[in-house]
Amino acid sequence: LGGDENLPILEEKLDDYDSPEKEMLKFKPRLVILGSGWGAVSLLKSLRPGDYNVTLISPTNYFLFTPLLPSAASSTLTIKSLTESIRRILLKVRGSFLEANAEKIEFSNRLVKVSTKDCDGQTKQFYVPYDKLVVAVGSTSNTHGVKGLNYSHQLKTVADARAIRRRITEVLEKACLPTTTDEQRKKLLSFVICGGGPTGVEFAAEVYDFLNEDLLNNNYPEILRQEISVHIIQSRSNILNTYDEAISNYATKRFQKDSIDVLTNSRVQEILPNEVIFKQTDPKTGETEYKRLPFGLCLWSTGVAQNPLARQIVEDLGEPFQGNKRAIETDSHLRVIGAPLGDVYAIGDCSTVRTDLTENTIDLIRHFVTKKYLTTYNESVSAADHPEAINLKKRFLTDSEIKNLKLSHREIQQLAQDISSYLPQTAEPFKYIDELLPKYDLEGKGELEYSQLAELLREINSKITSLPATAQRANQQGKYLGKKLSKIAKQADNLRLHEILDGDIDSSIYKPFQYKHLGSLAYIGNSAVFDLGHGNSFFGGLIAMYLWRSVYFSQCVSFRTQALLFMDWLKRGMFGRDSIG
Ligand code: FAD
Ligand code: MG
Ligand code: MG
Ligand code: MG
Ligand code: MG
Repeated sequence: LGGDENLPILEEKLDDYDSPEKEMLKFKPRLVILGSGWGAVSLLKSLRPGDYNVTLISPTNYFLFTPLLPSAASSTLTIKSLTESIRRILLKVRGSFLEANAEKIEFSNRLVKVSTKDCDGQTKQFYVPYDKLVVAVGSTSNTHGVKGLNYSHQLKTVADARAIRRRITEVLEKACLPTTTDEQRKKLLSFVICGGGPTGVEFAAEVYDFLNEDLLNNNYPEILRQEISVHIIQSRSNILNTYDEAISNYATKRFQKDSIDVLTNSRVQEILPNEVIFKQTDPKTGETEYKRLPFGLCLWSTGVAQNPLARQIVEDLGEPFQGNKRAIETDSHLRVIGAPLGDVYAIGDCSTVRTDLTENTIDLIRHFVTKKYLTTYNESVSAADHPEAINLKKRFLTDSEIKNLKLSHREIQQLAQDISSYLPQTAEPFKYIDELLPKYDLEGKGELEYSQLAELLREINSKITSLPATAQRANQQGKYLGKKLSKIAKQADNLRLHEILDGDIDSSIYKPFQYKHLGSLAYIGNSAVFDLGHGNSFFGGLIAMYLWRSVYFSQCVSFRTQALLFMDWLKRGMFGRDSIG
């Protein structure tokens, strides 16, 4: 027993294994990973076997390939094609798996409090100890405080996709009963999607294709095409509003042609058992009108909210370390701010990398000035090699001394380079530093005072884009962390003393995390759209669809999944979709 709550501390007994490789792991640091989604799995895939004694804790014992979930929900794909056993994935690193929920972290005791139901359905709570902990618990759906969400479906899990499939079949069968009136039938065949983001749009397109292509021709001759309707309720003025404008317009046009009803500037107020109540605003006059839309199936997909464990972590660490309402904040090495340095990492949807230039202006300048001083003093000594030297020098410049500094344009450009070397998210806005300088150097002196520089950094700060809640990001962070943890394990023995004392092993042996946007893509009814960023976009018909599929193919976890997906598509092409539910 132990920890703050005096619960049992349970550890895997590695002596009990007959495999010598597994037994070897008892001398290795314990790496505990929370979650079995994109972040966790890409970490596992890039971790070198044998470096850590790995335990993964998650309520789901499979990885879910979320980008294709909308297709699974509308029956294009079989659900098992999108999942991969987490135990199978753990085999490579000889890790163990616990099907349980992490509820709390005791940072000073290095314990995770875990809760699960035992074979009799009793709740069991215990602790799992860690040396290194990775939080990758993802996000939950945003409710926006709307009442009646229990009458709608969500699309995040395998169970959600199954429930949607079942409901679609149910609705179709009920529509065909001789006792169903024309009016009832129209209501049943109304599909309402709340949320015009990628998931909502893809689901709308998939459902529409499904109903049109397959059912009308073959299976349900009783149903008339004009009785079916698909609606998207979107609060913004556009669907896919995080994408390039051209793509957003393309999607809107495409949907108009397909007669998918896009209701923009509309906010859902309440969901009733068979009806959505929403408020539509006229963007020109500002007038609002309440409207009702009956449905047979309603999908709720309006963005993400914070996972309960992530909220608990933010609350426990508290101000001044944590306070973000949406995510756990990490430094650029993905370490949770406020937890003992290098013990706890957070990746994926549950986390965000803090890059606040306004709060830390003095420290940012101090870091640069100190480094510059050191390198001009002795060119051969790099500041990064001597953190303790920096610490020594740092004391020479007090806050008020820094506030009295004047930096030349050239020095500010160097400062920008310095900051973006350890806060890579600032690199993009700093590209435009030359255009900004004259704006703040009003008298054209060729230098900026502290207050002017602080204002300039504030403007740069407002242009830093936060990391998106995407598989692409979680995947990159997991990969980064897996590689880094392996490197840390390798170097643990020959670290220099100051690095251990300093505790900042991550930044002395590894670069900070840098997100690379590889473009977004969405599927909108027999065509796909790509958003490659910087105004480059691409969309089209059949070729785009195959490209879209091949992109997802190459991102698939295993050969098994790829083969299953391929068979699904083949089957669909030859025999139509499966509407048994
Ligand atoms: P997740 O993959 O959500 O994994 C979280 C894991 O943590 C799960 O295994 C969960 O069971 C587990 N967990 C939760 N709470 C606990 C706890 N307390 N203790 C232990 N474990 C816990 N992104 C794209 O880039 N492209 C797309 O096309 C795309 N399409 C999407 C379509 C849909 C329908 C959805 C739902 C998402 C889509 N996304 C897409 C987003 C993408 O899936 C997420 O950004 C990604 O899954 C985030 O990875 P993650 O590891 O942070 O979280
Ligand atoms: Mg994960
Ligand atoms: Mg996932
Ligand atoms: Mg996560
Ligand atoms: Mg999507």
